[in-house]
Amino acid sequence: LTQHYLQRAAASDLNAFLHIDPALSLAQAGAADARFAAASAGPLTGIPIAHKDIFVTEGWRSTAGSKMLANYVSPFNATVVERFGQAGMVTLGKLNCDEFAMGSSNQNSAFGAVLNPWDKLAVPGGSSGGSAAAIAARIAPAATATDTGGSIRQPASFCGVTGIKPTYGRVSRFGMIAFASSLDQGGPMAQTAEDCAMLLGEMVGFDERDSTSLTAAQGNVREDFTRDLAEPLAGLRIGVPKEYFGEGLASDVEAAVRAALEQFVKLGATLVDISLPKTSQSIPVYYIIAPAEASSNLSRFDGVRYGHRASEYKDLADMYKKSRAEGFGREVQRRIMVGTYVLCHGYYDAYYLKAQKIRRLIADDFQAALASCDVIMGPVAPTVAWDLGEKTDDPVSAYLADIYTLSTSLAGLPGMSIPCGFGQGDKNGQRPVGLQIIGNYFAEAKLLGIAHQYQ
Ligand code: GLN
Repeated sequence: LTQHYLQRAAASDLNAFLHIDPALSLAQAGAADARFAAASAGPLTGIPIAHKDIFVTEGWRSTAGSKMLANYVSPFNATVVERFGQAGMVTLGKLNCDEFAMGSSNQNSAFGAVLNPWDKLAVPGGSSGGSAAAIAARIAPAATATDTGGSIRQPASFCGVTGIKPTYGRVSRFGMIAFASSLDQGGPMAQTAEDCAMLLGEMVGFDERDSTSLTAAQGNVREDFTRDLAEPLAGLRIGVPKEYFGEGLASDVEAAVRAALEQFVKLGATLVDISLPKTSQSIPVYYIIAPAEASSNLSRFDGVRYGHRASEYKDLADMYKKSRAEGFGREVQRRIMVGTYVLCHGYYDAYYLKAQKIRRLIADDFQAALASCDVIMGPVAPTVAWDLGEKTDDPVSAYLADIYTLSTSLAGLPGMSIPCGFGQGDKNGQRPVGLQIIGNYFAEAKLLGIAHQYQ
């Protein structure tokens, strides 16, 4: 199995992988074989998995899609990588992503864009574009991804695969290169909800090495996420937020999502009109909080402890400046500047503190809405995948396309994307559409069950 996928990866022209090392993968596959021989194999033993290059791995380089870490090899594994290793899964390699997970089209990677396997003129989405493209092209049967403001759900949608962002704090961030710590959350991507359920079972659980990890007492225990897969949907109340079907939603996406909702009605669910009134504020709120946290997290890349160091400089300050100017790409620099600005004395109250207050109101909106429904459904993104090269000169237009995913992240709720059809895009061939399913805290098993019934 490992050989099969390594061959597919080597033959692929999608630029989904940043680092493959067949000898390392085959050694893990050999260890998996030995577990079968010793009758100590589990359900995932021997199954290959590829990791987003945000998770650090012993052996494989960990670049976060940045020139800053182009040659970085971690001395330890991320908790998520460690747990999949303990389950006997085989690491296939490291997957391309937007630099430090900042972006929604994978075009911010220092190592080039990833192509969408459905239409190579289209972006795969981002920031987990390599993960989504690899799953869609069957270069990997399973992948890890991270979602700070949509980066699991939106690329899954653009590439027609399934991905779930769990409740914030359920999956350890230890060894996940930090972007915005109060939002970053790891999760699995695969073909189906059933596969995601099996993968997620290995990922969740308290980790003392992550200070925001939810504890067992808070309910963050390993659970069987496949338990609701056979659960019928009769009586399920699906909230349909009017703000997710307003101006800006492309008609092809709306048609595919409404057809999926009709399918759920046939399966016994009822649709409930709900409102999430602060949806549009999620964009300014997220694009204050995420850069603020990023500016702080990325201060560690100073050219001293690890990462890129400029070759010529006058003094220490000059070395910092040149190393960071050379190592970070444009979008990362932009966010460091925005983040530093909103945290400045004098602006902090006006921007950062205000954003934190609205963040709370966004979370309250969800609780009010979830009083009248069991889950919320809508589109993942306003359009299908856009063309490669589009939106690169206009970052704000890319930020606006995050409108349906940011609030879930700000509230820390679980959300997933499942394929629900195709749209035409502007000009080219058929491009996938994703249906978003959002639930209350710890509702991952319910979301996966609902998704499986549809699939
Ligand atoms: N597109 C969003 C951003 O650029 C979300 C990225 C993410 O979830 N990592 O920040």
